[in-house]
Amino acid sequence: MHHRTAVIVGASLSGLMTALTLARIGIHVTLLERSDDTGRTGAALHAPGDLLQRITGLDTSRLPRTLSPGIQTWFAVHAALRAAADADPRIELRQNTTVCRVAQDEQSAWAVTADNRTHHADVIIGADGHRSVVRRHVIPNKPDATFSGYLIWIGIADESAIRPAHWPRNVAFLTSRDDTLLGYPLPGADGSTAAGARRIGWAWYDASNNDLLRATGCLDGTVVRHSLLAPSIPDATYAELARRAHAQFPSPWSDAILDSIDRHAVIGTPIAEYVPDRLVNGRIALVGDAAHVPTPMTGSGFSESLHDAEALATALATTAHTNPSAALAAYEKDRLVSARTLVQSGQGFSRAFARGAL
Ligand SMILES: Cc1cc2nc3c(=O)[nH]c(=O)nc-3n(C[C@H](O)[C@H](O)[C@H](O)COP(=O)(O)OP(=O)(O)OC[C@H]3O[C@@H](n4cnc5c(N)ncnc54)[C@H](O)[C@@H]3O)c2cc1C
Repeated sequence: MHHRTAVIVGASLSGLMTALTLARIGIHVTLLERSDDTGRTGAALHAPGDLLQRITGLDTSRLPRTLSPGIQTWFAVHAALRAAADADPRIELRQNTTVCRVAQDEQSAWAVTADNRTHHADVIIGADGHRSVVRRHVIPNKPDATFSGYLIWIGIADESAIRPAHWPRNVAFLTSRDDTLLGYPLPGADGSTAAGARRIGWAWYDASNNDLLRATGCLDGTVVRHSLLAPSIPDATYAELARRAHAQFPSPWSDAILDSIDRHAVIGTPIAEYVPDRLVNGRIALVGDAAHVPTPMTGSGFSESLHDAEALATALATTAHTNPSAALAAYEKDRLVSARTLVQSGQGFSRAFARGAL
């Protein structure tokens, strides 16, 4: 093995998955994560347990039972990956560590953090999400993901609070003239699937609040800066959402939305997209949302990130690639077309849904 150390920037789902696949081939991994708690979207993911287990070696008995095939909360998947990474002696996680820039020469690559430390490794992997700092080094002429023209409101409600007359058996996909809603039954926060202890998650696509995103600084031109957190959502917007939910969506989905609105437990996530032209520059590579940002409507951002993690480990384990740059070039060759195709597959939906709302 010619490549013994890796620094991964970002310890969310992609960073953790990549750390696990690289550690399995004997690479010592340092994960640099800017936050101390990466709990972020509250969204649900299609996370097939068998694929997760095969690629990362994760013990999927750590995941809660699902109520719809393969649908897990972001938090449950993150917690299971984090526990597996914590248990692996080849993985070191440093939280509260923000990477400001990355660089490289013939001998190594390095990440410079906000506390002025420099972390050297054979390779650096950018798993730092849709606003990636590492992407600025890899693709300096196209550094930013661009706003797709709509946001997704996200919430989760307890069955015990909404007491629905009918419990949904599966994921629901509802469309009206202006809105699209994805609803999904989930286990309770403690993993319980017993009646009365479950939850309903919802994701509501909305192209009519882009001015609010601009006014609150979530958008800067076409670049997404951050999500719209509950305290920043004006009362008038909550009231308007409640009116529309009541008018457009049937029970139990409308009940779940109205409950989340009552508790002000709603996040607005502006959706961005990024079609990559490259994934690699020398000893530095991108995975996950740093590499490719599809609309969540594709339902495949997570599994695409899993395949990135697998392909990267395969390339770095291949002894024929005598230097890190050659291994990473093989990774790019393996993944670039798939990543581009995924993002492009969602762009038709995004353009039709945004309908000039940009
Ligand atoms: C609303 C929504 C719904 C979705 N639904 C689905 C779905 O149904 N199915 C699906 O497959 N995918 C879905 N996705 C996509 C999926 O969530 C992502 O593809 C997946 O989580 C991979 O994320 P990531 O780890 O690459 O990036 P992120 O989750 O963005 O993580 C990036 C990490 O890097 C850290 N970081 C950033 N910058 C720095 C820095 N400078 N220094 C150190 N650390 C840094 C951040 O703190 C964060 O922890 C959805 C996404 C959204 C927003």
